[in-house]
Amino acid sequence: MIPSASPSADGPDTPICSAKGCRAAAVWVLAWNNPKLHTPERRKTWLACEEHREYLAKFLGVRGFLKDTVALSEWEPTDGEQRS
Ligand SMILES: [Zn+2]
Repeated sequence: MIPSASPSADGPDTPICSAKGCRAAAVWVLAWNNPKLHTPERRKTWLACEEHREYLAKFLGVRGFLKDTVALSEWEPTDGEQRS
């Protein structure tokens, strides 16, 4: 595994919206999975601000990738592990 260190990240550890060009603070976590690339239990996550949540959800939704939308405050990272 290659650590995804990003030393150039400016600012504090505020999660930022994943939408291209957006630097707003993220409020939502979109959990998604591309069945062509990922095993079914795998979850990729995008962060979204209030403004881009619908846009990003739609982007993933039309491809059938979107699995879940969770408020950032309620999101619990699982490090790829699935507890069910
Ligand atoms: Zn945004």
